[in-house]
Amino acid sequence: MVTQILKEEGILPLSRVRKEMVELAGGKGANLGELLSQGIRVPPGFVITSKAYSYFLDYNGLRDKIVSILKEEDSSEKASERIKHLILTSQVPHDLEEMIYDSFDELSRAVGKEILVAVRSSATAEDIESASFAGQQDTYLNVRRANLINMVKAVWASLYNERAIEYRKSKGIDSSKVEMAVVVQKMVNSRSSGVMFTLNPSNGDRNFIVIESSWGLGEAVVGGKVTPDEVIISKHDLKILDKRVAKKNMKIVYNQGNNVEVPLNGEESESPSISDEEALELAKLALKIESHYGMPMDIEWAIDADLKFPDNVFIVQARPETFWASKEKEKVKTTSATQPTERKILVKGLAASPGIASGKARVLMDVKESKDFQKGEILVTRMTDPDWVPVMKIASAIVTDEGGITSHAAIVSRELGIPAIVGAKDATKVLETGQEITVDATRGVVYEGRIIAEEPKQEHQGTSISGLSRDVLLSLFPVTGTKIYMNLGQPDVIEKYLDLPFDGIGLMRIEFIVSEWIKHHPLYLIKIGKPEEFVNKLADGIARVASAIYPRPVVVRFSDFKTNEYRGLIGGEEFEPEERNPMIGWRGVSRYVSQQYEPAFRLEVRAIRKAREEMGLKNVWVMFPFVRTTWELNKAIGIMEDEGLRRTADFKVWIMAEVPSVITMADEFSKMIDGFSIGSNDLAQLTLGVDRDSEILGRMGYYDERDPAVLRSMKRLIRIAHKYGRTVSICGQAPSVYPEVTEFLVKEGIDSVSINPDTVIYTRRLVASIEQKLLLRRR
Ligand code: PEP
Ligand code: MG
Repeated sequence: MVTQILKEEGILPLSRVRKEMVELAGGKGANLGELLSQGIRVPPGFVITSKAYSYFLDYNGLRDKIVSILKEEDSSEKASERIKHLILTSQVPHDLEEMIYDSFDELSRAVGKEILVAVRSSATAEDIESASFAGQQDTYLNVRRANLINMVKAVWASLYNERAIEYRKSKGIDSSKVEMAVVVQKMVNSRSSGVMFTLNPSNGDRNFIVIESSWGLGEAVVGGKVTPDEVIISKHDLKILDKRVAKKNMKIVYNQGNNVEVPLNGEESESPSISDEEALELAKLALKIESHYGMPMDIEWAIDADLKFPDNVFIVQARPETFWASKEKEKVKTTSATQPTERKILVKGLAASPGIASGKARVLMDVKESKDFQKGEILVTRMTDPDWVPVMKIASAIVTDEGGITSHAAIVSRELGIPAIVGAKDATKVLETGQEITVDATRGVVYEGRIIAEEPKQEHQGTSISGLSRDVLLSLFPVTGTKIYMNLGQPDVIEKYLDLPFDGIGLMRIEFIVSEWIKHHPLYLIKIGKPEEFVNKLADGIARVASAIYPRPVVVRFSDFKTNEYRGLIGGEEFEPEERNPMIGWRGVSRYVSQQYEPAFRLEVRAIRKAREEMGLKNVWVMFPFVRTTWELNKAIGIMEDEGLRRTADFKVWIMAEVPSVITMADEFSKMIDGFSIGSNDLAQLTLGVDRDSEILGRMGYYDERDPAVLRSMKRLIRIAHKYGRTVSICGQAPSVYPEVTEFLVKEGIDSVSINPDTVIYTRRLVASIEQKLLLRRR
């Protein structure tokens, strides 16, 4: 007999759910309901609430059984297996089953035929965090009526995925108390789909809505598989300003359990995939979403072939656009809503860090001349090194003559979120100090004059604007099995990126702390009797990041300065020899095991110990850079252990896989460490024998991390490491720049990717779409 409560609250149509109802409908359900209540059309559906789950547990007497399995089994793997089996083989009470079918049939009736649905987990408040950590709660797509109840049980069972149990154990959360809601939504039968932004994604201009559209499922646009049609709409009068119909060479359609790619030619490839009427309807929805969340948004949408306009226009995901929003130094074009006029191009180079900025150029050939550099000026120089960072931080854009996309200038400006063009050959000769220029670093072009006007700085107020908690906001992003880590070196910029959906820091380069906070060479500090200064400042810098994102891990990389860079530190000249080729010289582990540097390495280890033990930041792990041989690593680990740091379940030791010997000997290295992280910048350099900073070879196309030889090495490493139960990540620039490398690595089973802050959202979405495709193929 259905209780009254179950009747009223067991199943709720999305239209009755609101954002406050996280406990009942879970984070995802609450969000979808809230969007609907604001007139933002999402695919119709209903929520099987946590009350229904509870009823199912009680009906089958599962609570006690779950408690005793959790008690009996030490191994989470075994416990997971048994509890999942229990849930999957238990009976859904007949009355609840009937309610679920009734809701499903009602959805089908509205369409006039039996529909397919998505069955999605929707974790309740206390479990949201563990859900995103476990990364494994399930979503099933294209589910038929006949399989609906099984899939609902499968989603319930996913509460007890091994990683979820593990995580809750480590947090002291009682696994038998967590609850789960399930969202069931009509699968959109996508005639067309795509993404839209409530600003112009290429320059941050908030006067526009930009829609990208193509035929079939959205993965074609999100995954960058087609050149989409583009519609630009002005926000203030909702008029279409520009419409570009692209030649779309394929579409992805759902066919008998699989997403299949269908080649297109002839009329369909060249005709517009979206009508003006539909584009304007989407723009209206975009405005509502933007005003609801109070910030620029990045939205996925679809047009359903089964329904009539305007009921066929759906929003499938909406999340804050953070790239432009978080750029504090951003200058947004606010002056005119017209198309840009012809501009004189002064120089061109590689687009290393996207964005656009106008300002006065200042050409500096030596960092010593930088005293007069004014905040907001554009730095034009030959190449940067760590000494330049303080200047880079106050520049509005950076242009360098030399360097490729893995150069110092490129890496630092991406992290700081400053537009940068590198390898612009003779920029320092063509551009003049005081000249007004515009750096369009999305296209890699420097124009004469100011194209964009300055806007007063907009304070980013985090999540409070939307009225949603940070947890709920983050639950708007897709959960991925592959962890999405972020690269970060500058402790103070972490604040700016806290709202991004990353699972940890996969590479914390400590060189920034050393050159900007400590400033002195560690051996010099030892010589003058102040070693503690090094230890304390380094520990503080690490702690700043580790505490801000606790309990997510921070993989701190021991120092990887080259001799020429160390020499730039105060007191450095005395300790650093001149090397002919520092890039392949005394760097990484070869330093730590050398008589000269070993005392300084011990200070680095002490700083890690201090962060972990004195400050209690057990989420700090370490990584050895530029590892060449097993003997040197063995010796370095020995020194670390001598300083009291040993591998444990919560202290992971990783090495960078960037010298090819690490891959050749991956089996041997696997026995010594917990994980590898691919340093694709150096791996490409050393596999191909190409100096990563050589523009001659760069321009000729030699330096390319996508080269089959490099990809083959990465694949081999994943295979061997997994054979030995070790994890593999990547922290070089490749996945931040080439989505195809990310796709390759996810398909090869990489455990995590660590990318630049500006690509976290894009990559999370990309990885989710690739994983979904893999899952569909496997079924
Ligand atoms: C790499 O080599 O890919 C890497 C991440 O290290 P770095 O760029 O600091 O050499
Ligand atoms: Mg490297």
